[in-house]
Amino acid sequence: MKNKITVIGAGLAGSEAAYQLAKRGFEVDLWEMRPKKSTPAHTTAGFGELVCSNSLKSNALTNACGLLKEEMRSLDSLIIRAADKTALSCDDKSAALSVDREKFSHYITEAILNEPNINVIYDEYTDKITDNTVIATGPLASDAICNNLKELLGSDFLNFYDASAPIIDAESIDMSKCFKGSRFGEGGDDYINCPMSKAEYYAFVDALLTAQAAEVHGFEKDMVFEGCMPVEIMAARGVDTLRFGPLKNTGFERADGTRPYAVVQLRSENGDNTMYNMVGFQTHLKFPEQKRVFSMIPGLENAVFHRYGVMHRNTYIDSPRLLDGAYSLKSNSSIYVAGQISGVEGYVESAASGLTVGLMAASRAMGNQVLLPKETMIGALASYVSNPGVFDFQPMNANYGIIPKILEKMPKQEKQAKYAQRALEKIEEFKKSSYWLFN
Ligand SMILES: Cc1cc2nc3c(=O)[nH]c(=O)nc-3n(C[C@H](O)[C@H](O)[C@H](O)COP(=O)(O)OP(=O)(O)OC[C@H]3O[C@@H](n4cnc5c(N)ncnc54)[C@H](O)[C@@H]3O)c2cc1C
Repeated sequence: MKNKITVIGAGLAGSEAAYQLAKRGFEVDLWEMRPKKSTPAHTTAGFGELVCSNSLKSNALTNACGLLKEEMRSLDSLIIRAADKTALSCDDKSAALSVDREKFSHYITEAILNEPNINVIYDEYTDKITDNTVIATGPLASDAICNNLKELLGSDFLNFYDASAPIIDAESIDMSKCFKGSRFGEGGDDYINCPMSKAEYYAFVDALLTAQAAEVHGFEKDMVFEGCMPVEIMAARGVDTLRFGPLKNTGFERADGTRPYAVVQLRSENGDNTMYNMVGFQTHLKFPEQKRVFSMIPGLENAVFHRYGVMHRNTYIDSPRLLDGAYSLKSNSSIYVAGQISGVEGYVESAASGLTVGLMAASRAMGNQVLLPKETMIGALASYVSNPGVFDFQPMNANYGIIPKILEKMPKQEKQAKYAQRALEKIEEFKKSSYWLFN
């Protein structure tokens, strides 16, 4: 008898998961509520609709998202094939992969509709979530599915807004200007502190006040972020607001009794201390502005930002508490969560999680559970979102901070090329050792 599975949502993750499963003999019921009912951002009835930019970011292998795409190509991703087939003409193979959004969505829709093992149901899924289901309803999941998710997971595990502070690569922090330690010496060495003089603090506040904010989508205008005001708004409330807020200097007395004028704290984001989060730096500034202004902080002049701060509507679960490395629930391994709602961030990352779910569910059905290698970007994403050691979880994009480090010292570009080479070799090994998934 054939394996049956329900996939809810025909976005980037759901379309990819459905395709991968159907290709491996599953009978798939794919639910999509559009065009009957839309989200505040979608405008068409097509599958895999890109709701904003038409760019799937860089194709360069030294770029984390470029590497992820190359791994997905090798694993026969429908979404990346659609992107390659509908790419806007470009001679530079290392440039951004921008697509004709209508042709892209059309390609995916046709591939799904022509797949005999997929039965498309154009309706909102409102039933209880049962075994053998992939939840891929995206950042703007319907209320009905959110209520079902709350019932299934508990309301504490579902978030509706993302207010993430930037994350910085540990190696790019100039430790000659910073020091490790916690306020009042409590809490161990998990923090890196960037002390500021009075002149540095005032220049920083000035820059924040004139920096450009990102666009707010209409449906996000009345959004309420409980307890997390953007740093630029705090700065606008008064020149000393930040100094008595997240940048306060108390607990940092030097041996001679003096204190820095202000202190920016960075907190370790993962057990390996390879990435640091800027404490209290929720922000809605444009990404280039974050780079410009936050690089004024002593020690962060050459900071490499793995993820910039964002504040937007985003439905996602507390994956480190709920998911295993196959994106399935720890409490019920036949229920999978894929896409932005699983805590990955971005178009390609969402599709990558759908691809992983397809492979993992198929390998389980064949009685031979495999996991993608952590050295690959696609495996590292699965590992990061399911890592119970990550607290205060915020959605994560592809970046070199989440894969196991190569310790050897070398220039950044060379190291990234090495990461890419290692990852692509691991993908080939994975395909060979689990050949039964690919035949
Ligand atoms: C406004 C906005 C702009 C974004 N811009 C970018 C960007 O420029 N670049 C980038 O990389 N990422 C961006 N993202 C983030 C993210 O990558 C995209 O949202 C991406 O589409 C997520 O893929 P997904 O498959 O998880 O969800 P989606 O692509 O949104 O797919 C989810 C699907 O589920 C359907 N659905 C929801 N509930 C139900 C239900 N109960 N029953 C049946 N169907 C249902 C929806 O109609 C939708 O088709 C943006 C997100 C938002 C909200």
